[in-house]
Amino acid sequence: MASSKKPPLSNETLLTHLGRWPDEQHGLINTPVSRGSTILFPNLKSLQDLSQPYSYGRTGNPSSRSVEELVTALEGGTGTRLAPSGLAALSCALMSTLSSGDDVLVTDSAYEPTRKFCDNYLTRMGVSVRYYGPRIGTGISQLLKENTKAILVESPGSLTFEIQDLPAISAARGQSDIAIIVDNTWATPLFYRPLELGADITVHAGTKMFVGHSDTSFGTITANEKYWPQLHATHYQLGLCAAPDDCFLAARGLRTLAIRMDEHQARALEIARWLEAHNLVTRVLHPALPTHPDNALFRRDFAGSGSLFSFALPRAPQAALAALFDDMELFGIGYSWGGYESLILPVDLSQNRTVTTPERDEQIIRLHIGFEDIDDLKNDLSAGLERYRSAMG
Ligand SMILES: *Cc1c(COP(=O)(O)O)cnc(C)c1O
Repeated sequence: MASSKKPPLSNETLLTHLGRWPDEQHGLINTPVSRGSTILFPNLKSLQDLSQPYSYGRTGNPSSRSVEELVTALEGGTGTRLAPSGLAALSCALMSTLSSGDDVLVTDSAYEPTRKFCDNYLTRMGVSVRYYGPRIGTGISQLLKENTKAILVESPGSLTFEIQDLPAISAARGQSDIAIIVDNTWATPLFYRPLELGADITVHAGTKMFVGHSDTSFGTITANEKYWPQLHATHYQLGLCAAPDDCFLAARGLRTLAIRMDEHQARALEIARWLEAHNLVTRVLHPALPTHPDNALFRRDFAGSGSLFSFALPRAPQAALAALFDDMELFGIGYSWGGYESLILPVDLSQNRTVTTPERDEQIIRLHIGFEDIDDLKNDLSAGLERYRSAMG
């Protein structure tokens, strides 16, 4: 698109223009949903030399290509493949880099179902799985073994929001053939560019910010030049694909990603600062706050922050937590995040931390801040915190 004389297009412009071809589709602005399995070839020769862009529904069509092209450009990768969920994208990335007898290092702050895949499936396939503390930085060099073939980073961790020193982890790995895989769901490529900081593969739970409206599940995997051939092959061998209707929803969500991220960022920060000043809240786990222990790293490596953060309250009986949650009027109680609606979830680390023990006895609560009026959200939280206080005993 850009000629060599012009400066490169910004992400905002890529988000509005890439991955759609009005000239090929009767002038329609949005790439239509390409439902289909069989794709016809005009003659035997084109079937035999696969000379047309699409050959079979599962392996690609205009709907999947529209998202792949856009995400590849945003991440600065060589290629992208799609998956029916974020978890499927993560497991595909891991399977593309690991074989029987290999070792993988996984952040202790990883998304819990990712841990289950590593602990159950990867170990069954003969891969040894070890966890590291997310604040390890250069210290990871002590953990690297001859057979270590991948490091799975999630920065920030999506419950406790530790920021990882990705350049230090990349330097520790040096020239060895260890793939660094980063779950970049929280920041999106607009606010964090892992491939430029030494990562090889980035993964998104597109379910969250890309789709952006809580209306489907989606995953993307983007690799650099070195890891693209094996990612491409593994994705094909596993038979993964995303449904054309879901590709359409992801592409449509991506068109407004930049303005949604700016709004989420501003609103989440306002609520985070307001909570920090609340006399019942003991701490706020948001990496963009100066009080966060990783704030310097955050400011060095990230261009902005997302919709999701946690805060802590003094531990109280279950009845106090129920009093807070059950009468929330606006915050919905539910998994996932990334949509226009605000969500609240209690955080229980007992099942998903093995090397970092929780520092204190506290009740962590995670929030996703959506697009409701900010004062309405504060009022809802304020009433919930008073119910918690009254029921604390
Ligand atoms: C939700 C999430 C996933 C998994 O995505 P699904 O589409 O639910 O499978 C992975 N990583 C992070 C950080 C997530 O928030």
